[in-house]
Amino acid sequence: AFDTETATAWITAAEAAVKTDEARLTGLDAAIGDGDHGANMVRGLAAGLTNIAERGPTTPGDVLVAAGRGIVAKTGGAAGPLYGSAFRRAGKALGDASSVEAAELGAALEAALTAIKELGGADEGDKTMIDALAPAVAAFQAVAADGGPIAAAAAAAADAAEQGLAATVPLQARKGRASYLGARSIGHEDPGAASTALILRALAEVTA
Ligand code: ADP
Ligand code: MG
Ligand code: MG
Repeated sequence: AFDTETATAWITAAEAAVKTDEARLTGLDAAIGDGDHGANMVRGLAAGLTNIAERGPTTPGDVLVAAGRGIVAKTGGAAGPLYGSAFRRAGKALGDASSVEAAELGAALEAALTAIKELGGADEGDKTMIDALAPAVAAFQAVAADGGPIAAAAAAAADAAEQGLAATVPLQARKGRASYLGARSIGHEDPGAASTALILRALAEVTA
């Protein structure tokens, strides 16, 4: 089950993962953006963790809302508001349940995807974080619909996100800073898709 402790462990693991891979995320963004994605993600998730510690949320939904608010408050760039809204919307989708199963967590991940699409106006194929998150949500929900546990759904989601990340390489960016490069954005992984894959791998790790 996904409870307050697991939700907190997720954000903790996600923060650790982006810290470990900060230089890689920055390098990807240096190639097709402005080279700040690693720093943005480290600052954002650290702020999410701080806000969780300050608020002391008592449900998994409140943990994700607190994380999202911390991220929005402290993170610049495109990714801050997008991830902040995603976590807030996922948290709200969980309502006030003290613990949820795979179907509810899948619905929350779908709510996060919808929030990102609404705020950023991008869709699949535009070479953004959506290219990692959309296949991950579909994979998570497919396992959940089969009655699979959260651990299996999250592992499938992380695998799908990593495949989605790889599939951004041949795409030309149509949203965000990388779109300014036109065809020169082709041939690189999208940094936001890379951070999304890390965040979903962190979910798989804490639920395994
Ligand atoms: P900035 O581009 O403002 O410096 P970041 O470098 O932190 O912000 O984040 C860049 C990432 O944000 C991109 O790699 C992409 O995945 C994501 N992104 C940018 N614009 C959008 C958008 N409109 N919709 C979804 N994701 C976006
Ligand atoms: Mg950037
Ligand atoms: Mg920037």
